[in-house]
Amino acid sequence: MPEALSRPAWAEVDLDAVRHNTAALATVAAPAALCAVVKAEGYGHGAVPVPRAALDAGATWLAVAVVEEGEALRRAGIRAPILLLAEPPPEAMADALAQRLTLTLYSVEGVQAAAKVATNGRSPTSVHLKVDTGMHRVGATPDTLVDVARAVEEAGGLRVEGLWTHLAAAEDPAEDGYTTEQLRCFEEARDRLALAGIHPDLLHAANSAGAIAHPAARYDLVRCGISVYGYCPGAALDGRVELRPAMSLKARVSFVKELDAGERVSYGLSYALSEPGDLATVPLGYDDGVRRRLAAAGAEVLVNGRRCPMAGTVTMDQFLVDCGPSSGVKTGDEVVLIGRQGDEQITADHWAELLDTISYEIVCGVGPRVPRVYVNGEGGAVVADGRPEQPRLEEA
Ligand SMILES: *Cc1c(COP(=O)(O)O)cnc(C)c1O
Repeated sequence: MPEALSRPAWAEVDLDAVRHNTAALATVAAPAALCAVVKAEGYGHGAVPVPRAALDAGATWLAVAVVEEGEALRRAGIRAPILLLAEPPPEAMADALAQRLTLTLYSVEGVQAAAKVATNGRSPTSVHLKVDTGMHRVGATPDTLVDVARAVEEAGGLRVEGLWTHLAAAEDPAEDGYTTEQLRCFEEARDRLALAGIHPDLLHAANSAGAIAHPAARYDLVRCGISVYGYCPGAALDGRVELRPAMSLKARVSFVKELDAGERVSYGLSYALSEPGDLATVPLGYDDGVRRRLAAAGAEVLVNGRRCPMAGTVTMDQFLVDCGPSSGVKTGDEVVLIGRQGDEQITADHWAELLDTISYEIVCGVGPRVPRVYVNGEGGAVVADGRPEQPRLEEA
């Protein structure tokens, strides 16, 4: 574990797993290229080391949600193309272009704002257009797309490099008909642009689920997020690509006491010990992404290779574990919340099931107070030295 932590709790990110997943996805997607989606601090895995590992292992593009995320990658010296997944507000266009981020545009106003700040280059600035084919979040409608594209071509200083869309339910086989319809609508949009004389080099539509389950959605580029981090985007696609979860959430026991049978613990006294036993305190709480409801939902943690139940309500900074009678558990013992210990494993998918959500929300939810520690860094080196490469607190 990292040594210089003021409290013994950390998220361990295995960069070998990231490289493995990226390489596996690149193979599945080929000949389409792979864009690693690294928004939200790499789905909670840290803003910079994961994208670096993904680029090492075969990703050729990165994608982020907001301009600041792209700026952080450029500051770290990353030169690969970075796609912005939403059209920035007009006042953010100049920063986006100064950082050489690839704009996604879908409104004429957005095009005009971009054109205003894009005219000083020698060659035109490449942008991607997004068309809404059924997700109904953002994007030009199929009817307005040609107007937006014409605005780009006429603005001077901009050119259409890509056309993309986003799938709403690619992970759900029951909705395969909807996915097929989205792809048909996407190709119709491409054909409408062609009639207007606009031929984007790069077509893309697939998220992880699209890339894995829908070969027709791969086109020239796939945009994979969750699968890069080692989670399958939906239960129905389990095992289609061999993925390894990259993040483990760990801590050390901070306090132990022996309690009698029937003693009730934590806020609300909702948990009573069924027999006399050792109660261990773990220094992570709901501010760190250990959701308050987990204990009541039946979550367990791993201590000394055994599964032990979380006991009572998770508090903001700490929670309790019922280690049972004569457990031998002592202060300083390692606790695994998510990850492996001995032969046991707890996954973010399991937490997601308990909390009625998806793995995405679990890994993104690991809070900024939890240092990220990277193992298996460049050339296989262990870089877990208590000074995470990119402490999130400093980046924020
Ligand atoms: C987040 C996102 C992705 C990645 O989705 P995953 O399911 O994590 O692979 C791809 N495209 C867009 C537009 C996104 O917002």
